[in-house]
Amino acid sequence: MTPRIAILGFSIECNRFAPAARRADFDQRCYLEGQAILEEAAKPAPRAPAELTGFLEGMNATGPWTPLPVMIATAEPNGPVEQADFDAMMAVWRAGLTALKGKADGVYSIMHGAGLATADHDPEGTLQALVREILGDIPFVCSYDLHANVSERMVATVDAFVGYRTNPHLDMRERGAECAALLRRLLAGERFHRAHRRLPIVSPQTALLTAQGPYAEVIDLGQDLAAQDPRIANVSVMGGFSYGDTPFNGLSVIVTATERDAAEALAQRLAEAAWDRRGRFVAKLTSLPDAVRLAKESPVPLAFADVADNPGGGGRGNTMWILEAFHAAGIQDAIIGIIADAPLAAEAHAKGVGARFTAHFNRAVAADDPFSKPFAAEAEVKALSDGVVVGRRGIYAGRTVRLGRTAWLQIGGIAVVVIEARTQCADPVFLEHLGLDIGRARAVVVKSRGHFRGGFDEFFKHEQIVEVDCPGLTSPNLASFAWKHLPRPVLPMDKETTWP
Ligand SMILES: [Zn+2]
Repeated sequence: MTPRIAILGFSIECNRFAPAARRADFDQRCYLEGQAILEEAAKPAPRAPAELTGFLEGMNATGPWTPLPVMIATAEPNGPVEQADFDAMMAVWRAGLTALKGKADGVYSIMHGAGLATADHDPEGTLQALVREILGDIPFVCSYDLHANVSERMVATVDAFVGYRTNPHLDMRERGAECAALLRRLLAGERFHRAHRRLPIVSPQTALLTAQGPYAEVIDLGQDLAAQDPRIANVSVMGGFSYGDTPFNGLSVIVTATERDAAEALAQRLAEAAWDRRGRFVAKLTSLPDAVRLAKESPVPLAFADVADNPGGGGRGNTMWILEAFHAAGIQDAIIGIIADAPLAAEAHAKGVGARFTAHFNRAVAADDPFSKPFAAEAEVKALSDGVVVGRRGIYAGRTVRLGRTAWLQIGGIAVVVIEARTQCADPVFLEHLGLDIGRARAVVVKSRGHFRGGFDEFFKHEQIVEVDCPGLTSPNLASFAWKHLPRPVLPMDKETTWP
């Protein structure tokens, strides 16, 4: 019989310290119900997450099946989802899943794993429990972002737990296809066990790269050991998202296997490997004065990552520290982007290309906002766009992204890219679509913690990247946050932390 597979998704990374996310934030990125999910996925450059493309391809390649699309909601990282908005989405999932009762043979859900609702630490767990409540014990596979904060309920309610293995996240499509392969095995009658270990390590986000470093070593070890043991179906080492500030924050290992003992033994071994490396999960930042000096004096072009104001971690994408310092220092041949400022983008569009005016940044921000301070400078409008772009490299490659109206404002020697819809600067096209030539710039400042590495790698090697220490909602200086729910003690903040 042709298997009928329910498809749903909920993907947002939530920063406890950022303003609440609303339904409109999901509409801006990608909110789809029913057949619209499949129609969007069939487009040449869909807005839907790449896992969906990979899953559909994986299922199509392995035999006949019938997709039963329910609802997918994804948004740019933000604050916790307003509870009423999450509850309304739960009602849509509930109605959709109830209609599939007795009709679905399996379920695939695209999850993030670091979501929050304003009154729920674990919305993914809540949604997964709903799937079980309505559809019962049928094969259920989920994919997760590498920054997932993994609850016990998330592990208990799925059959196979599949996390990204790359940061920047370049394997989303592969993980979707892997979910299809594991779902096929479950449909054929196999049964999986899952083992879960959580360590008291809440790493700065900048110390969770997968090209090098302690985290990369543990991921690679897990893949090596899994390749030697046919009982292991998946190994996921989840770095976690510190700013989620949940009771289940902490670097986690989840192993899915055909035998319980194999899952437990490998999860334990990898947790010990991560613990052995515990002293290396630390941030290495460059002060702003040093960054200014480097921008002036470096013999090679440099990329400056404004890691503390990363929209991809809930940052507002509008802090002014680097722009103000570079402008004051007279830095030339620089590009800074992408700065979220809807009123300024609208004003630039109203004035038109060639207009000169005083650009007032952050005019609409509340006076008590600790990070998004006003800044004003003389600017010339050099280029304008409607901001609908197709990602060229990295995490957005091949996907349509809507930045809202965008403007290139020239401020002294600095080309500043202003956008309407807060987005992480992870793809060079976010600058290039206005005519900017990244290859000619001496200094490129990106509002991004790390995903820019997957997009700007053709311009900047690892050695040419400077992570700048400024204040912000995504600062790697974790001790500067007022944590409420994080388990303590925890490394690297609390030196006395022990495990187990
Ligand atoms: Zn992530």
